[in-house]
Amino acid sequence: MRPARRQALLATAALALAGCARPGPPLQGGWVGSDPARGHGLRAVPRDKLATGPVQRAAALVVGAGVAGLAAARALMQAGVDDIRVFELEDQAGGNSRGHVVDGIACPLGAHYLPLPGPQAHEVADWLHEIGLLHTVAGRTVADERHLCHSPQERLFIDGAWHEGLLPPAASGSATRAEYQRFAAAVARAQREAGFAIPSRRAPWTDAHRRLDAQTFAQWLDGLGLRDERLRWYLDYACRDDYGAPAAEVSAWAGLHYFGSRHGFHAPGAEDGEREAVLTWPEGNAWLVRHLAAPLGERLLAARSARRVSVGRHGVELTVWNEGRGTAETWAAPAVILAVPMHVAARIVDAPPPALVVAAALITHAPWLVAHLRLDAPLLDRGVGASAAWDNVYYGGASLGYVDAGHQRMDPTPRPTVLSAYWALAAAQRAALAAPDWRPWAQQVIAELLPLHPDLPQRLQRLDLARHGHAMAVPRPGVRGHAALVALADAGPATRLHFAHADLSGYSVFEEAFGHGHRAGMALARQWQRGLFRRA
Ligand SMILES: Cc1cc2nc3c(=O)[nH]c(=O)nc-3n(C[C@H](O)[C@H](O)[C@H](O)COP(=O)(O)OP(=O)(O)OC[C@H]3O[C@@H](n4cnc5c(N)ncnc54)[C@H](O)[C@@H]3O)c2cc1C
Repeated sequence: MRPARRQALLATAALALAGCARPGPPLQGGWVGSDPARGHGLRAVPRDKLATGPVQRAAALVVGAGVAGLAAARALMQAGVDDIRVFELEDQAGGNSRGHVVDGIACPLGAHYLPLPGPQAHEVADWLHEIGLLHTVAGRTVADERHLCHSPQERLFIDGAWHEGLLPPAASGSATRAEYQRFAAAVARAQREAGFAIPSRRAPWTDAHRRLDAQTFAQWLDGLGLRDERLRWYLDYACRDDYGAPAAEVSAWAGLHYFGSRHGFHAPGAEDGEREAVLTWPEGNAWLVRHLAAPLGERLLAARSARRVSVGRHGVELTVWNEGRGTAETWAAPAVILAVPMHVAARIVDAPPPALVVAAALITHAPWLVAHLRLDAPLLDRGVGASAAWDNVYYGGASLGYVDAGHQRMDPTPRPTVLSAYWALAAAQRAALAAPDWRPWAQQVIAELLPLHPDLPQRLQRLDLARHGHAMAVPRPGVRGHAALVALADAGPATRLHFAHADLSGYSVFEEAFGHGHRAGMALARQWQRGLFRRA
């Protein structure tokens, strides 16, 4: 069939499936997760309408209950600063790491895995030991097998068949294979010369990093003559997957950090080509968030958005909007941790410090769409090859593929499941993402999956769509090493305003968010321990 005709037929089928021209009942579904109106409420209620009643007090306040805010709260409580309150805009804690449930089946709303932490992410490892995910056996760290991603982990649809792993296949002796080998050598060289770590601030920021941060990853690859189509697709995919933007937009530092800070890059046939172990759950990182939030109890105040932060000589005053009641509340404490994106922090702080103004203007966020397809049974595959994996990707696709919420089940009996398909979008698509009608997005999701799974129309029962308008900071050239981010992460021993969010790393993963939260919580706890603040 001619490609144009095939595309037209797929689009018609997708349209029918999404309920626009569907015989019988229309497809059930709609928008789920964050309501853009709530986030934008920051702009809607004028500040002079925020006058409130009595001032409530605490030893420390945390704004934002994403991974960073929750890690900050944990650090404070561990250090004995127990009288804290954590304010969260949404009805649940977790931010980008929340979960969702479709007809009783748990799935991730956003973040879905955590690689086993390396030696530099020791605060994450300590916490995983604390909650029993990691154990020490005969001096070695061992993970709880139940939560390690079961095999097969990943597969790629290319050349009409499914292949294990995400690296496009390349025959021995081919030009592609040779470029894979050259790229592997370049990554190893960058690891030796620059050094990478997660959290990224554990690798000293040297001239080698500065040079990489001054150009895009695509420019750096072009400079080495690495232009093979399959290699470049794979590297683009990696950048879109971790940073929400392609190699032409992220810095060479970011492109190399992706490989250098974790597993390196292994050309096919390389001896040390073992895949990285990752922890995952049907509900994704919401499993981690649940464990991080549980000890907070009533210290966590959900559906409370921070609207105004005023820092005075004797403390901080915070005005929050109770989203349930539609009323304002005032809180006071010696210090506050702002664990929200930098553009939000800049909006709510009275007279924001210059570094915050710069950071808010510097950081651009990629919007993301996550589509949850509720199926009454697993899908059939078009094409032969590797069997269904946890992560399933389509070479050349617009999306980043889908993960299967049923993958970690021990019982092999085919059952209803939910596939969560990930779409990293361009900033120009943010407005369309905020549109009330979910069906045009549903059509795109279905159109992408139909060629892979022809029985999708029979299996699909519901399609829920989660939108993340400002999902993750894009590490464009000049962002990661910017002095404003360094200044905000190290706000000084006497500050009353601490910052903790993955934005401060210029990109967003669990370990960066957790690391910033832990650092800020410890810094505030040290202020208490040094007697900088007197208990009321
Ligand atoms: C679709 C998607 C998939 C991802 N997948 C992964 C993955 O698999 N693994 C991984 O490691 N990372 C992943 N990430 C990255 C993820 O962002 C980080 O892992 C982490 O969750 C970031 O945490 P954070 O606390 O820095 O930020 P956020 O998640 O942004 O948390 C900020 C919190 O502040 C709240 N807030 C905002 N404004 C206010 C206000 N005015 N008052 C009160 N509260 C407010 C927000 O509601 C939110 O809860 C993914 C991200 C997205 C969007």
